[in-house]
Amino acid sequence: MVEDEQDIADILILHLEDMGTEVTHAADGINGLTLALQSHWDLIVLDLTLPKIDGMDICRQVSITNPTTPIMLITARSSEMERVAGLECGADDYITKPFSVTEVMARVKAIFRRMDISNHSLHSDAVNVKDISINPATHAASIGGKPINLTAREFELLLHFARAPGQVFKRTDLLEKVWGYGHEGYLHTVNSHINRLRAKIEPDPAKPTYIQTVWGVGYKLAV
Ligand code: CA
Repeated sequence: MVEDEQDIADILILHLEDMGTEVTHAADGINGLTLALQSHWDLIVLDLTLPKIDGMDICRQVSITNPTTPIMLITARSSEMERVAGLECGADDYITKPFSVTEVMARVKAIFRRMDISNHSLHSDAVNVKDISINPATHAASIGGKPINLTAREFELLLHFARAPGQVFKRTDLLEKVWGYGHEGYLHTVNSHINRLRAKIEPDPAKPTYIQTVWGVGYKLAV
């Protein structure tokens, strides 16, 4: 956990430890970045506004170095632009202060649950659809033989589509299956991740040929 406000850090650590997790705390951006890159964490809970190095920079750095590490951003900034920027820097989830501790814990549990699912999928076979190839065992994805660098969530999202080509998924389905919770307030999270995924896989993200929007319903992997 990287959080400079001691009160907030204390309450989150208390609840996380109650859940049986072990927490390492950094109170500024430099320590946060050093610790974040030092080992493989199950989850990084990251405050956005920090002394010395901004949370956004840490987020960007971690998603380049350890793209499979889930990051949950905690921030006082609530504007749409900041929220989207947060998700675009590679965070998995985003929570705005003031938050309810119960909600933060529910999100953390959802992230851990999804990681369990993705650990199970480590033992499943590679999926090939069109010229997309996804290998859960090696966490590698490629299009036309060209490797694509996906974050953990983007990878799960693409894998979910590729396992059922042509099937239309509602955003609530995706939230439930890929994120592990079905809170309608977070539907925009799905949109953001779809956009990021498209930016990485589509030759022209404005005219997607892989992940297509089915207006009024959701998204599908076109076959
Ligand atoms: Ca702060």
